[in-house]
Amino acid sequence: MTAGPSAPGRGRHRLGRPAAGRWWQGLAPLALVLILAAGAVGWLSARGQDQAVGAADADRAASASRPATAGAAARSPDSSPPGQPARSGPSPRPSLPPPSPSAPNPADPADPADPTASGSAAPDRPDGELAGRVVALDPGHSPAGASSAQVPDGRGGTKNCNTSGTATDDGYPEHAFNYDVAVRVRAWLEARGATVHLSRGDDPAAGPTCVDRRGAFAQDSGAELLVSIHADGNADRSVKGFFAIVSSPPLNQAQGQPSLDLAEAVLERLRAAGFTQNAAYPGGISKRSDIAGVSLSTKPVVMFELGEMRNPDEAAQMASPEGRQRYAEAVAAGIADWLASHL
Ligand SMILES: [Zn+2]
Repeated sequence: MTAGPSAPGRGRHRLGRPAAGRWWQGLAPLALVLILAAGAVGWLSARGQDQAVGAADADRAASASRPATAGAAARSPDSSPPGQPARSGPSPRPSLPPPSPSAPNPADPADPADPTASGSAAPDRPDGELAGRVVALDPGHSPAGASSAQVPDGRGGTKNCNTSGTATDDGYPEHAFNYDVAVRVRAWLEARGATVHLSRGDDPAAGPTCVDRRGAFAQDSGAELLVSIHADGNADRSVKGFFAIVSSPPLNQAQGQPSLDLAEAVLERLRAAGFTQNAAYPGGISKRSDIAGVSLSTKPVVMFELGEMRNPDEAAQMASPEGRQRYAEAVAAGIADWLASHL
């Protein structure tokens, strides 16, 4: 009650007829109170809107174009409350602070939001959002190499149990890349509450190695979808870029539109992350009838060739942990996008 000494004077002026000079003195504090109240209402309203956007899947649309920036925007509701009192204290007009702190955050190394975001290009999914969701990942191939044992191909024929996969010119094998990316995708999804099953489990050499077992892995593990992770090995080293493989013609409903949606969700994240889309496939999608790993799934299923291991640029990205993390975050965020739109 610091206003104590002046309160009696102000009360008397409200009731009586103020002299001109004292009338202005009495109005000034009232106007300040009104300005503060209006500012507070405006700030609360803006906060409410931001929190609603952050909680809803509207951030998916916003983040589809620029995951990193959208991530910072989606985090702003979380980061603004601690910063808000400090900013609103000295300022009588706090109506627009929520947007402004989010803008300088990425460039401000002292901002606490940055360290939590480091190493995570697409952290725009709130914790726990994927609770109860179940994802199956299939890191293609294995250190066990090729096997010519014949297994069902899903379309009435048979094919080899597995192939060896490709490698970079420096000898980094595709099966190692696939497994490392899958583990990173699993970590991203699990951090947001999802349950994730890997066809090779915690042992990169274990699990169902034949393509028929891999293709049926989603339904066998109780998952909602199956994403198979691969890299391509085009002999033409100038060829580069990611693409998706879907079962075509689809053998069940899940292999149809839901799988195309899943492909597009991940492709969009890969594009937004700055990776190159393979120019050979319209829309980045290759429609195949000869891939048991997708033909045998009764759940939405997509195989991704994340890049070309013989291309020097992409080989360098795949061989680096940072590059694999970028691939993984794009794939994981795309999966999360699909899950958010398929409740
Ligand atoms: Zn492969």
